[in-house]
Amino acid sequence: MTSRLVCLYLSVSLCLWGSSAYAADKWVSIHTRNFTLIGNASESDIRRTGRTLEEFRSAMALVFPKVDQVSAAPTTIFVFKNEDSFKPYKPIYKGQPASVFAYFQPGDDVNYIALSAGLPSPNAILHEYVHFLLREHVGSLPLWIREGLAECYSTFDLNGRQTEFTLGRAPEQHIATLNMTPQFIPLKKLFDVRDDSPEYNEESKQGMFYAESWAIAHYFLFGVDGKRRMQFVDFVTALAKGNPPDASFAEAFQTDYETIETEVREYIRKRSSWPTMKVTSKDPIQTDGRSTVSTLSDTETEYYLGDLLLHLNRLQDAEMHLTAATSKSNDFAPAQASMALLRVRQKKYDEALSLLKTTAEADSKNPMIAFYYADVLQRGDAENGFANVSEDRTETIRTYAKKSIELAPQFVEAYGLLARVDLNSGQHLDEVEETLKKALAIAPGREDFQIWLAQAYLRTNRTPEAHSVLESVERNTASSETRRRAATLLNQGEQSLGLAEITQSIESELLRKERAPEEVQSVSLAGLAPPPSRKAEDTVLESLTPVGPSVQGEKLSGLLINLDCANGLTLRVRTGNDTVELHSSNPDRIQFLSYNADVGSNVQCGPRNPGTPVNVTYRPVPGGQGDPLVIEFPEKK
Ligand SMILES: [Zn+2]
Repeated sequence: MTSRLVCLYLSVSLCLWGSSAYAADKWVSIHTRNFTLIGNASESDIRRTGRTLEEFRSAMALVFPKVDQVSAAPTTIFVFKNEDSFKPYKPIYKGQPASVFAYFQPGDDVNYIALSAGLPSPNAILHEYVHFLLREHVGSLPLWIREGLAECYSTFDLNGRQTEFTLGRAPEQHIATLNMTPQFIPLKKLFDVRDDSPEYNEESKQGMFYAESWAIAHYFLFGVDGKRRMQFVDFVTALAKGNPPDASFAEAFQTDYETIETEVREYIRKRSSWPTMKVTSKDPIQTDGRSTVSTLSDTETEYYLGDLLLHLNRLQDAEMHLTAATSKSNDFAPAQASMALLRVRQKKYDEALSLLKTTAEADSKNPMIAFYYADVLQRGDAENGFANVSEDRTETIRTYAKKSIELAPQFVEAYGLLARVDLNSGQHLDEVEETLKKALAIAPGREDFQIWLAQAYLRTNRTPEAHSVLESVERNTASSETRRRAATLLNQGEQSLGLAEITQSIESELLRKERAPEEVQSVSLAGLAPPPSRKAEDTVLESLTPVGPSVQGEKLSGLLINLDCANGLTLRVRTGNDTVELHSSNPDRIQFLSYNADVGSNVQCGPRNPGTPVNVTYRPVPGGQGDPLVIEFPEKK
């Protein structure tokens, strides 16, 4: 999510769009090489978003080879035609649509990115895509690192060529925010900002949170000739492994928070130009231009919107759309599947089970359907204390748990389920070790899996192995409950544990503590920072070079005295004794930059008295009014 400058774009756009909002929408889907895009925006806007993403993806794959791996879950991008049409599909913060103009919603079956078209900068979509890359390749990280890196990489620029791109250009709005906000958020406080903190969600506070997160990440990646870059990579790697933040920070940077904060402040204060990284490649950055378009039926549209809301955990709203989808057509499998998952979330297990059975048996390719079919069956057995469980039923659970693993090999819950079924039934105990070791290779931090593995060892009389796992859990865990469980099992280890004891402890804990939806998986791999080694002949990192303003044109400065939003956008600017009129028929292409706190996030249409100081970059039009390209509201002196 990003903030301030973009809110400025939106408020201008809103008054322009107001009149033409709710014409009948045509929804299309466009498939590019790596993405599915869905939207009611114009086909060309959706295509452009797809092309931008594909270019960015191949460029990032040059410097971060892991990007090229097939991802665990597909990514679907929603391109809404405007803010009005996007608003009902935003995450909710304090009962209201969150103050975001794009977001990334991860899922185990599908990831969603949503944004509205007409944002003149491609940064929004790239910012959200960096969130996807971080989740996919790094794992769970503190919010400031996720947002700081997303902001750093989202100003990616292809430089108009296919063999060269720039990373790290400074976003104007962050510079402006940093210049006009006297209070730096203390590093320790910034590091503690969470998804539900005001700094992240409230418009008046977001600006500084993003700006500062960006500045720190930029300093680590591009500042001081890269001297702190590897330290930052070490820090991110330690965090992704689940190590404690304070100790990891001290160890990686060999200093304290205050010192780094002072360095970053100095970095910001001294700059008029910012270091960037230019990457050149001997081969063109491959983008496969092919894409296929299809118009979505009402059923498909309702399904996609419902599934998006389901992933946002907005269950009531999801139900409305999914009911519409399933009532229009009852043989559209994805909608049935989505409805089944909704019933699981609503804890309506009976209804869920019958839907899951139908969709799972109809050979759904959705790993979540296979998983939840098995999971809901198993849950029913657990609630009945595993009385009278038939072998057939156990086999069905195993079959679908395995199918889920086959369809989504990175989704660790399915491994956990399979292991539990075998531990509970006492069958296939020889396979449990392998199942859990695979899961732990994907998610090494999962202490519950480690404890189950120890239990599998105990069941097969491999006490030394069990002890070694339990001792390691006891030593490393941050949870007192987990430490207590490990200790209990260590003490019991000498005796042989009965099936009932294991079953009870695992299942009662699971029933008590419902799994949070869309929990971020912790995957530990190297940080998404420029890798230390990449063959020099493939990619050449040129010396760090500053970049200037990118828009060319004539400049004028004066007082903005009228902003007429009827019929495009007409500006009237007073310069000395003259008044100049500039007109754009494509106002959503104009860049608005505010370095003036009074202008803030709301540029109103209409006359302004007194006028507001502006700098305008425009293209002269022979015999007509100039075409404004950039409108800057400068810092107040
Ligand atoms: Zn973000």
